[in-house]
Amino acid sequence: FPSKLPEVGTTIFTVMSKMALDFNAINLSQGFPDFEISAELQNLVTDYMGKGHNQYAPMAGVPDLLNSISRKLKQTHNIEVDEKNEITITAGATEALYATIAAIVKPGDEVLVIEPAYDAYVPAVRLNGGKPVLIPMDIPDFTINWDRVAHHITGRTKLIIINTPHNPTGTILEEDDLSALAGIVAKHGIYVLSDEVYEHIIFDGEVHQSVLKHPGLRERSIAVYSFGKTFHATGWKIGYSVAPPSITREIRKVHQFLTFSVNTPIQYALATFLEDKKNYEGQDRFFQQKRDYFLEQMQTSRFVPVTSKGTYFQLFSYKNYGNRPDREMAEWLTQEIGVASIPISVFYQDKTDNHYLRFCFGKNDQTLKKGAEILCRI
Ligand code: PMP
Ligand code: GLN
Repeated sequence: FPSKLPEVGTTIFTVMSKMALDFNAINLSQGFPDFEISAELQNLVTDYMGKGHNQYAPMAGVPDLLNSISRKLKQTHNIEVDEKNEITITAGATEALYATIAAIVKPGDEVLVIEPAYDAYVPAVRLNGGKPVLIPMDIPDFTINWDRVAHHITGRTKLIIINTPHNPTGTILEEDDLSALAGIVAKHGIYVLSDEVYEHIIFDGEVHQSVLKHPGLRERSIAVYSFGKTFHATGWKIGYSVAPPSITREIRKVHQFLTFSVNTPIQYALATFLEDKKNYEGQDRFFQQKRDYFLEQMQTSRFVPVTSKGTYFQLFSYKNYGNRPDREMAEWLTQEIGVASIPISVFYQDKTDNHYLRFCFGKNDQTLKKGAEILCRI
């Protein structure tokens, strides 16, 4: 059958997690916690099921949840949103990303994608007839050169996709980055899709810079979030988009026929759980401890870290182990050594190989200790 996405195979996350299982390796590849979610949150879900909240939710989301999100945005980032017209609850951030791209990108439109890029962006652009324009970050710090970004803008550029804190590099965008981006947006009138699923996982006292709180970006930006990340429940697949009403209207048209609405009892449970800010604050400290613990355990290894500033991912260069391609290195580490990671070349369309691997530290300390012990031995 003629494929619409001939270049796409099985995602690396599935491939590496399966390989970890097959070879009984410690799985530091796919990004998901190996610890339990809050018991209170679990109980809320069953309570709401018991109370009969088991039928279709309203298309845009349960009003209580829209309200809780708008209060949370105000509390955490001092952002005002019109919950009825600017928030849409989706099946994970993945659906929010897809619905946004489908709503905005027309055939022939160019979309700027910064590489390395989370793997869901480019296929969504292609499926909607868009042309991804790939712009590499500067190595070794993985920063964005905004002059280079501006240089890639043409009369067909419609959208830029950014991600902070950034998967896979663990870098974050600073205020200066958003100001530079706002300059580009003002000059060229493009839109910004900002993937902020790791908004609460940010370290060393840094503050998450959301496009929503930047006056020059707010009116032309769509921000995307995920409860899977915020509450360690990646299997729940509930997220949301926040965008000005005119854009939200179009995102909802896509969402209406992609999924229509998402899990009702979980939306009610999240609405109640979000009322207490203790339930989402403090994650930065929790994950910073994990990052520090993992880095400390890795100190005697010959892997060289690019210290993560956010997300639960830590990049390591393996240059000290020679020049083999990163995919081969990741396979060898999983199959022969016993630790699974993600090769970074998969986040580039041209498979650029920088000799970096990504390790997920959103895991129990024993898992991190065991993984690091093995990596320190080679
Ligand atoms: N964006 C990024 C950067 C991610 O890392 C992930 C999840 N790994 C997603 C989006 C997708 O989130 P969800 O599971 O809520 O669809
Ligand atoms: N986002 C997760 C990661 O980066 C995995 C998501 C998935 O498995 N599709 O590891």
